[in-house]
Order: sequence, then C-alpha cells, then structure tokens
Amino acid sequence: MSPNTNNCSDIRSQFVQEYFSAVASAERLHARERGRTLMHAQAELLFHLNGEGKCAKCPAHVRHVIRVTTVHEDGGGFDFDALCIRCQVAEETIASQVTFSLKPEHLNQLVEVLENYRPARAVAA
Ligand SMILES: [Zn+2]
Repeated sequence: MSPNTNNCSDIRSQFVQEYFSAVASAERLHARERGRTLMHAQAELLFHLNGEGKCAKCPAHVRHVIRVTTVHEDGGGFDFDALCIRCQVAEETIASQVTFSLKPEHLNQLVEVLENYRPARAVAA
C-alpha cells in the first residue's frame, strides 16, 4: 500500500520540491539567467499557493504575480502589482528601467512555507 495520498499537503509538497529542484538547477546558470529562473520558480510556487492574479492595466489574468516597477526618462515611474505579458512589453518599450520583484507579503509567505516544509518520510515495507 502506498503511504502517499493525493491530499492538499502532498500537492503542496510536490510544488515545494519542484521549487527546490529549480533552485538547484539554477546554480549552474549565469547571474542574469539565474535571477530570472529563481524569480520564475518563486512565482510558480506562489501561483500554486494563491492562484492567479489580475493585470494592473487590463482585465487579463496573470499566472505569475510579480511586481513590476518602471522608471521613465522624465524621472517618473510606476509600480504595478502584476502585469500580463502584453502590458509588460508595452511598459518595457516606454520605460528606461524595469525592475521585477515579489511583494513583501509574498516573500514572507514563501519564507514561511519553505521554513515549515518537511519532506515526506519513506515508509518501510
Ligand atoms: Zn495587461
């Protein structure tokens, strides 16, 4: 009999393990690609924990809720909780600088989930 049941805890454990796998594989990447890979892995885990979000500029659904901060040539800027790909590309064309980050509450949530993660133990036959 398998000790694993398909409950919520097992599903969460699967996504945390996928996150750790992405972190481990990112070690071999160059800094820029490593940062992008880690941000994607964090956003993917947050999607599995919280579900999707909404684009701050249009009604599109967003799988990866990543805060986008832009700075324009005139010194002005904007802070978006999340952007769909189309709105992100539009912002990138008019901004002189674009920064991606996670919201502080999402960072805190990730820390809590990862600190409390305990891998499933193998059960002897
Ligand atoms: Zn949009």
